Amino acid sequence: MQGQIKERGVPSSGRDAISVETPSSERSCLVCRTPRETSELLRVTVLQGRLVFDRAKKRAPGRGAHVCLEPACLAGLDENRLSRAFRTSQSLVEPLEESLTRLEEIAKRRIFESLGLARRSGKVELGTDRVAENLKKCMDSGRLGVALRATDLAVKTVNRLSDAWPVGTSEELGHAIGVGKAGAVWVPASRFALALKFWLQVKRAASVEKRPDTTSYGSKKGKS
Ligand SMILES: [Zn+2]
Repeated sequence: MQGQIKERGVPSSGRDAISVETPSSERSCLVCRTPRETSELLRVTVLQGRLVFDRAKKRAPGRGAHVCLEPACLAGLDENRLSRAFRTSQSLVEPLEESLTRLEEIAKRRIFESLGLARRSGKVELGTDRVAENLKKCMDSGRLGVALRATDLAVKTVNRLSDAWPVGTSEELGHAIGVGKAGAVWVPASRFALALKFWLQVKRAASVEKRPDTTSYGSKKGKS
């Protein structure tokens, strides 16, 4: 009962509004064809035979294709698909495997950049206890934010932070926010958190461990 009453009178911030907002910001993934908001897609262009990746912001100039932040979709970026998207033959001088390795590095850099910006805006909370507590609150009350943890933590700590995104060593994580070392950080809901989440997803999708067999994916029998 109480929970239901709370729902009423919540000022309409547009989240659940029925009004049709900017339907044109949706694009389909070049590989799986799923339509998504551009904020959930990676934009791909080809420059001198190399894939160039960026966030698919609205109204980005130039011809580009869009792809989901999923390993299988990134692995499906072959010449045929790109040629069709750009309506011109695209010969890639860089193997896709290398492009994705490069993308993973870019994503990691963007993650640390976003963290640095968040820190300068006072939007970073530090410490494994604090982050674990926030993650718990997040579950309980729907508090939104992004949790990151270093990859070189003790197993016990990792278990407490199982919902945090692993990224970099505690030294790398600390360096990004101007402290010696950081085991875990929390960025509350903000544009920094959105950017972080985006690049964390990209990094995960492009990472070698998660990568499907890129040599066979694009050239599977039956070109449908
Ligand atoms: Zn896709």
